[in-house]
Amino acid sequence: MVSDKDTPFIVFGAPDIHNEEIDEIVATLHSGWIGTGPRVAQFEQDFAAVKAVGQDQVAAVNSCTAALHVSMIAAGLKPGDEVLTTAMTFCATANAIIHAGATPVLVDIDPLTLNIDTTQLEQRITPRTRAIVPVHFAGLPCEMDRIMAVAATNNLLVIEDCAHAIETQWRGQHAGTLGDFGCFSFYVTKNVVTGEGGMVLARSPEMIDRIKVLALHGMSKDAWSRFSDDGYKHYEVVAAGFKYNMMDLQAALGIHQLRRMEQNWLRRREIWQRYQQVFADLPAGCPAEPEDHMRHAYHLYTLSIDERDCGISRDSFIDRMSDAGIGVGVHYRSLAQQPYYQERFNWRPEDFPVSTAFGNNTVSLPLGPSLDDADVHRITDTVSAILAK
Ligand SMILES: *Cc1c(COP(=O)(O)O)cnc(C)c1O
Repeated sequence: MVSDKDTPFIVFGAPDIHNEEIDEIVATLHSGWIGTGPRVAQFEQDFAAVKAVGQDQVAAVNSCTAALHVSMIAAGLKPGDEVLTTAMTFCATANAIIHAGATPVLVDIDPLTLNIDTTQLEQRITPRTRAIVPVHFAGLPCEMDRIMAVAATNNLLVIEDCAHAIETQWRGQHAGTLGDFGCFSFYVTKNVVTGEGGMVLARSPEMIDRIKVLALHGMSKDAWSRFSDDGYKHYEVVAAGFKYNMMDLQAALGIHQLRRMEQNWLRRREIWQRYQQVFADLPAGCPAEPEDHMRHAYHLYTLSIDERDCGISRDSFIDRMSDAGIGVGVHYRSLAQQPYYQERFNWRPEDFPVSTAFGNNTVSLPLGPSLDDADVHRITDTVSAILAK
């Protein structure tokens, strides 16, 4: 079936942009200041309020990848250090560890939660282990009590990859505030969008000071305060820093996206729960429900298509969905299935059997707040028709 104008293609992860964002972008362009300035400061303040932390505990950057990297540099990771992370994540998690000079060490996932299997954490620890990077996959929180206990016993840093987890909570605490650092993404497909963008949340304000310097060339004063009213101030280069700052043009989107965060979360939850109801009797695997002490961010809705149960392969399922005009995603093939890491670290898919099996079978359905009920119907009908025996 080819989609026509009565059934427009549903783009996977399409951003939900309203007039407030468009007006703010135009106002930013007219303001004469489009780089890092007052709107970034506003966005940081608003984000800190959402996360119930001090404004001195957050730093806006230009991606979650940058947030992860600069956190690891600020924390002093160095060559030879080992960092534990999950085999079921986006490559940026591992790449940030590598660029910090450290070595990623993979841990397989729990088959139910799809998060790092905390029962395998301790057996991967060596005298060189310095940090754990848990990823709250799809928005479901990791077992943070266990992770923080292992970290405390072994004197490890915890850097939470919160790219899926802006709204996630664990026992009433916001994701990103449990570890030493939380790193957030505002990429186009994420729950809050700035185009490209990210945020570091740190327990320690001193770390945020360091991160702000490292994220802007290693300069000790940022450009905005240099040109403030109280006269010219010379900057000093105190580190070989990076170009990781967020622009006001990006923050202009984020300020308004953040105001609709809760409303968008409620709509995604509604769609997610609808999928759970409709797909419960299909031969595909459905994601785990959050337990009472968890708040799910509902970033992804993943189905697991095992050809032996479903009579169709995951990749054929994707083709059938595309033919029906519905864009889907794959999050993710296991890191141990990627050739660069296989060559460099000798990772083998069979050593991470749960991640590998999930990576071979998983498909993510559209879950954006801009989907209307008719879209959701079309998606559930199409999935049900493809998977009907
Ligand atoms: C998207 C994503 C990242 C990278 O975020 P960017 O803002 O695009 O750099 C990192 N980790 C995970 C788990 C992601 O999904």
